[in-house]
Amino acid sequence: MFTQEFRNAVACAAVVFLSACGGGPTQPSGNTGIVNPPPPPSTEKLSLSISSVPASTIQGYQSFPMASLVAQVSATSSKEGAVVTKACKVDNTLAPCGPELVLGLGVGNHVIKLIGTSSFGAVDSVEVTTTVLPATITCRKIVVNTAMGEYVPQGYIYADNGPGTVRDSAKVNADGSCSLNTRYAATPRAHITIPGDGTMGTLTNWLSSTFYSNLVIVGKAKSFTIPSGESAGRVVPIDMVKGTKRVPWVNGTSLYNDLGNASVSLFGMGSYKSFPVCAAFMSMSNGSTEAITSADSVAFWTNVDDLEKKLGVDLLKPCSEATVKANGGISIFLKVGQVTSEGGVGVGYFDDYVSGFINFSGHYAFASALLVQHELGHALFGLDHTCEWTSVMRSSCPVGVPDQVTTGVEDVAYILEKIQSAALARKYGANQSLGLGFVINGARVSASPALPELNIPVLDTRGNPIP
Ligand SMILES: [Zn+2]
Repeated sequence: MFTQEFRNAVACAAVVFLSACGGGPTQPSGNTGIVNPPPPPSTEKLSLSISSVPASTIQGYQSFPMASLVAQVSATSSKEGAVVTKACKVDNTLAPCGPELVLGLGVGNHVIKLIGTSSFGAVDSVEVTTTVLPATITCRKIVVNTAMGEYVPQGYIYADNGPGTVRDSAKVNADGSCSLNTRYAATPRAHITIPGDGTMGTLTNWLSSTFYSNLVIVGKAKSFTIPSGESAGRVVPIDMVKGTKRVPWVNGTSLYNDLGNASVSLFGMGSYKSFPVCAAFMSMSNGSTEAITSADSVAFWTNVDDLEKKLGVDLLKPCSEATVKANGGISIFLKVGQVTSEGGVGVGYFDDYVSGFINFSGHYAFASALLVQHELGHALFGLDHTCEWTSVMRSSCPVGVPDQVTTGVEDVAYILEKIQSAALARKYGANQSLGLGFVINGARVSASPALPELNIPVLDTRGNPIP
């Protein structure tokens, strides 16, 4: 010990004219007699960085209710040979700090701080801030159309990822709004359930993330009191399971037109905005293959009158071809030789229905109450097919499902309920149904292709099938 102190004192004396002694370099180990010169005067500078921290992030799916972040932290010194020790603090609490800083952060603002300490004594720090936002599904309006008027279900909304998964929940407010803080808001789709009550049927289906920020749901009452027409006053159960049940053949359709894809069902619950809707027989110059006769016209309007009496609504009015082509409405074609008749909502399916079409495959079709009212089901009400009751919209049903040659009481209820739901959806900026009666704002319906008719038995007056 004594020898070492003495040696340092000698070295110091030797270089005193170059630099102040004391904090300078030490003599190399070993008694070589060589003394390192001190470096030129300089200030040690630390370079500290925290990267990969976004200004804001939302609660994650796997990490809920936290947001998961991995920050890259580095600290170096301008001085060769320096060893920089890192310390990290998250909101003033020390956190393990390697090359990466793994963070689980709750909702709110957070300060992430990196402190570097050099073996030469320099100390510096840097900090970044990040904000964790709550992952929410926000309802603007949940409402059900009932005979008593609008009704908001007084209960909860749930989100999960299908059967057996964790459920998040929130109260539906009295005004129909909700704010559902849920891990599934960080995923492309969530399975939403709003349990039914004495008035409303249960709403449950997958919801696309498209709708997380502004959800408008028009549910369905469990029953509908027919307000007009020959069955006025009749109370008919509205069953969303039936309304969305596909007819049992490959790629079959449900009564409520399903415009979704494999992962999310989007049931079209639209309607023409007002009735009566213009209808025009299209001449051969506009697409018919034969002229539509006055006898066809008389037969057609007779079947329309029957439907109007059943519904108690003035549905259709004759208009010129030019008017329908210019302003929308139902275009009716005679296409002799086409395998079947068909109909659909045509171009203008985007907000409210604007136009529709019917292709009748023969003169006989104008005189068929089934065909006229069935195709108007497609072209005027935007319906597809069902086998769930003896419906005018039956098609390709299994043996044993009875025929319905004109519009039945259930049909009347489902049609009028759909028109009323569409009005409610229009009022709140929704125009399409998602899932079992979910009507979602902002959704847009692509132009619907012609709906093929398969196996609709058309009977003559003797009950024999017409080919
Ligand atoms: Zn059809």
